[in-house]
Amino acid sequence: MRQRSVTVLGATGSIGLSTLDVIRRHPDRFAVYALTAGTRAAEMAGLCREFRPVFAVMADSDAARELAERLVDLPEIEVLSGEAGLCQVAAASEADTVMAAIVGAAGLAPTLAAVRAGKRVLLANKEALVMSGKLFMDAVAESGAELLPIDSEHNAIFQCMPADKVRSPVAAGITRILLTASGGPFRTFSADRLRSVTPAEACAHPNWSMGQKISVDSATLMNKGLELIEACWLFNTSPEQVEVHVHPESIIHSMVEYADGSVLAQMGSPDMRTPIANGLAWPERIAAGVAPLDLFAIGRFHFERPDRQRFPCLRLAAEAFATGGTAPAVLNAANEIAVAAFLDGKLGFTDIPVIIERTLAATEVSEADSFDTIFVKDAEARERAREQISLLSV
Ligand code: NAD
Ligand code: MG
Repeated sequence: MRQRSVTVLGATGSIGLSTLDVIRRHPDRFAVYALTAGTRAAEMAGLCREFRPVFAVMADSDAARELAERLVDLPEIEVLSGEAGLCQVAAASEADTVMAAIVGAAGLAPTLAAVRAGKRVLLANKEALVMSGKLFMDAVAESGAELLPIDSEHNAIFQCMPADKVRSPVAAGITRILLTASGGPFRTFSADRLRSVTPAEACAHPNWSMGQKISVDSATLMNKGLELIEACWLFNTSPEQVEVHVHPESIIHSMVEYADGSVLAQMGSPDMRTPIANGLAWPERIAAGVAPLDLFAIGRFHFERPDRQRFPCLRLAAEAFATGGTAPAVLNAANEIAVAAFLDGKLGFTDIPVIIERTLAATEVSEADSFDTIFVKDAEARERAREQISLLSV
């Protein structure tokens, strides 16, 4: 068995820490080549002491200085900073596997660097794919990178497909993808009650422990909207072939329906270490530290249709994908700005879709002809979204 050399982008986050926990269990299989983080130097220093990477990168330059000071006694760990540092370690020839677990559009450039360098890319950073869609998938095809989905639903779908037909569902006899959703913490809330929910309530997900941004996305159902787009790109399918099923127990992580009527489901405890271990070891299986599934304790599964009235983000995402071009990048940027404002106490929960819809209306859609176009549109949409938020608060 060849030992894999792994770079973890977003090492201090929820996915990053789960990834390192799986790696910790298999020192014979995995070595850490580089760790990266945004601003949290103290946490990063602790991870560096344990995993002894060759490189440690902080996106923020002050945080990089602080990290270097904290690691003076370990001069063999080289500290880098900024997007250039992130892209350098993502593409470095010494690593063969890159976990893309930076949150949001900030992850696109380093994830793309890993793709272009032909790595095994474990994709958690769904925003990167949503923003750049076809360009991203074309880059994967050109470089021969091995793109493995880590988002639990997409990893489930991947596991329910024949490995050689992941990008040709029709040839595989696949008729539908059943994308499951927990429904988030506000699934049963009235439209009226939704208006007054707080960031703390939004971040308290009933089944999953995740970073703040994706927790809010789960509460608005934007997460499912982003995942619908993600599924269409990863599995080369149309949105009509993907049906969202709200399944509050979060035990079935998604399903694939075949022409003969078979429906294959992947199940497990809601713990991201399962899809992470699947991606790290694929096509082998390794222990992930996940509690075994106790179906007697769970007892029942439930399914319902998503409510697009109370949760308009799902509709907005589907519409942006149908519009195509730069619209999904605008949707994503507006969502990031609106979610940050909500977390900051500057925007109401139900105003999140309002800001996204207005930003989409105020930003011209163009053809997504290059990554530069995507980055420019992302910046423009952020500007528009901030304007819309200030208009709302006067
Ligand atoms: P998180 O907020 O817990 O962690 C984000 C990581 O990215 C941190 O290490 C942070 O330092 C780093 N980061 C943030 N801003 C950065 C910047 N500007 N430049 C460089 N690094 C930066 O987020 P998370 O919950 O771990 O999610 C990470 C990604 O995985 C997201 O795209 C999310 O949608 C996806 N995902 C997460 C889960 C989950 O269970 N947490 C499940 C599926 C998909
Ligand atoms: Mg998911």
